[in-house]
Parts: sequence; structure tokens; C-alpha cells
Amino acid sequence: MGTPTLTCISTNVALHKLNTFNVKAFATSFIQIDSLQQLKSNYPEIAACSERFVLGGGSNLLFISDYSGLVIYPQLKGIQVIAEDSRQVTLRVAASEVWHEFVCYCLDKGYFGLENLALIPGTVGAAPVQNIGAYGVEVESFITLVECFDLNRGEMVSLSHDDCQFAYRDSLIKRAGQGHYLVTSVEFVLAKNPELVLTYKPLKEYFANQSSVTPQQVFDRVCQIRAEKLPDPKLLANAGSFFKNPLVTEQHYLRLKKSFPELVAYPVVTDAKSEYKVAAGWLIETAGFKGKVVGKVGVHKHQALVLVNYTDDDGSNILALAQTIMQAVKQMFDIELKAEVRVLGQLVEKTKNSGL
Ligand SMILES: Cc1cc2nc3c(=O)[nH]c(=O)nc-3n(C[C@H](O)[C@H](O)[C@H](O)COP(=O)(O)OP(=O)(O)OC[C@H]3O[C@@H](n4cnc5c(N)ncnc54)[C@H](O)[C@@H]3O)c2cc1C
Repeated sequence: MGTPTLTCISTNVALHKLNTFNVKAFATSFIQIDSLQQLKSNYPEIAACSERFVLGGGSNLLFISDYSGLVIYPQLKGIQVIAEDSRQVTLRVAASEVWHEFVCYCLDKGYFGLENLALIPGTVGAAPVQNIGAYGVEVESFITLVECFDLNRGEMVSLSHDDCQFAYRDSLIKRAGQGHYLVTSVEFVLAKNPELVLTYKPLKEYFANQSSVTPQQVFDRVCQIRAEKLPDPKLLANAGSFFKNPLVTEQHYLRLKKSFPELVAYPVVTDAKSEYKVAAGWLIETAGFKGKVVGKVGVHKHQALVLVNYTDDDGSNILALAQTIMQAVKQMFDIELKAEVRVLGQLVEKTKNSGL
């Protein structure tokens, strides 16, 4: 008689507390992964589910209905120093470490570079997926390797920095589709001598008259600006910037600048093309949505890029507001906004080609 298979998959699991938009949704199937060994031993059951999704801290997601597939919830912890010399350190960090706690750990140990990325919600495992960035720094600059479990093939795979094909809030892992790669750990190379990035205007201006600046001061200032500007999801449910800053051609930018002299945009040179990155927050504010409240959801009063959920249980109302904003921005500026937040649930098929 064979050993009975022990299943760790639960059914009909509430996701309410696992997403920072705080919307109500249930996962048809759910598995928490506490070790690589458990992941491998449960692989046959995981592989049997064709619709899968890897959930981190739920801070960049919107559930617009129940999720009919398998939610895989890794809880892999640990930070290891794997190489070190007088100039730099290489750390291997398990996917479910909390990002901000990892930034604090590095600062405390004298490993520098991540100060500008302080207070970004979520997990270390999601950082390369999203290529998180803030205040002039993107996480890809510090990542040398991402270890993943390939859920389609049932084996571990190591992705080098180049393999990850990082782009603005994007990577190969994100593009590969939901439930293909599960990030198990990320390797970071950090400097032992501070290499501060103060190019972002509010940091540049703040430290302009200081002859020397420490990483701790940059960290403190970043935390202070973020606390002033962004709603804390624990107090007001949100998922950070709902939309990406769109890129437009130089001609488009010049046309817009003529009609809207106050347009906020920055030149970006990509593949020898000259493009402009337009501040999506400015577009939304100019279209009249800043601070707008629609039922129990709305647009944040200080930061138009952030959609907020006051008390709604239903994520599709946030989606409806996002779509109204997208239509208005398209009409006014001929720009198609794309969501940074990942939208999950049964209406996804309908919204697949609409930037959401
Ligand atoms: C108030 C607020 C401020 C924010 N500010 C910023 C900011 O300044 N800059 C920025 O870049 N982002 C920002 N964000 C967005 C968010 O914090 C990041 O996108 C973060 O990396 C999401 O991490 P998470 O663990 O919550 O991922 P989740 O929201 O759970 O998932 C996001 C995506 O990553 C995938 N994923 C998560 N973990 C894994 C894993 N282990 N393996 C494979 N895929 C995985 C998911 O499948 C999903 O596609 C903000 C969010 C909030 C709420």
C-alpha cells in the first residue's frame, strides 16, 4: 500500500487581509509555502492547477472578484552573507523577507545603496518582479541573481541580472505571466562605502547646503517625504501608484507642451529614440480627479496617482474609477495610461487590452 499524499492546499481562503486595497476576495485554492522542500514535494498538486498566482505582501494588487485558481503564498525567510571584501558585500535574501525591514538591516550593518528605496511596502521577492524604484534609484542596480522555482517545469532556475530583462517597473518574471516563476531568493551586491544618489529634486534641494550627507540622513529624509506624501495602507487602503508614468514621443510631448505649458515630463533616451516620461499624477490631477471621491473609493487628496479605498469591499469599483480616469486622460491628452497595479479576477479577460 502506497503512502497517502498529504495535501497542503486549502480551499475557499479569504484574501481580505492579504491585500493592501483591503478588498474582499476568496481564492478557490491556496497554499502557503514554508520551505523549498515543501514546494518541491507539493509540486504535483501545484502543477495540476492551470491557473496560479504567487502572492507576496499584496501591496501592488487589485482583486476585482474571487480568484478561481491557486494562490501560492511563499513564507521563505532568511538573510545570508555569501561573499564579502573591504568594498562590498553579497547577500542572499529569501523572498518573503519584508522589504523595508531588509533596507533597515542593511543600513544597520553598513551595507549601502538601498536608502532611497526605504518604506516601499511588500516583500524582497516582489522587488525584482516589479523592479521597484523610488527617488532616483531602481532595485535592479543592486541585483546580481534571482533564484526562482519554475512552476511550469518543476525545477529551480537561476536568473542573472541580464536574464531578468529589467525595465521600468517591469521584468522578465512579470512578463512571463502569473504563476510561471516563484522567486525564492534574491542576491544583492551592496557597497560598504556610501554611494549616495541625490539626483531626485526633493533630496537634492534638501541637502543642497550640507557639505556631507550620510546614508542614514537620506533614509530618514526619504521616510519623512513618503510619510507626508503617501497614505499609509494600514490607515487608508491603497496599493501605491495605480498607474505607470507613460512614455510619449518627442512630437507628442511638444504638441502637449504647447497646449499645457505646465506639463510635467522628463526626457528619456531609449534605443536612440528621444522620448518623454510624463508624470501620470500630473495628467490625472489636470483631468480633475485629485481628491475625487466616488462612492466608497477615490483618488488621494495629496497624490493623484494613488487610488484609495475608504470602505469598499468590492475591488471592481476601484477598477471602474481607474477606467474612468484612463478614458478622461486619453480624451484630454491622447495618452493611454497603463496600470502598475496587477488586476486579478474574473473581469481580467475583458480588460486585458485596456492597459489594466
Ligand atoms: C503606499 C505604497 C507605496 C508604494 N510605493 C512604491 C514605490 O515607491 N516604488 C515602487 O516601485 N513600488 C511602490 N509600491 C508598490 C509595491 O510596494 C511594490 O510593487 C512591491 O514590490 C510589491 O510587493 P508585494 O510583496 O506586496 O507584492 P504583491 O503585491 O503581492 O505582488 C506584486 C507582483 O509580484 C509578484 N510576486 C510577489 N512575490 C513574488 C514571488 N516571491 N515570486 C514571484 N512573483 C512574486 C506577484 O505575483 C505580483 O505580480 C507602493 C505600494 C504602496 C501600497
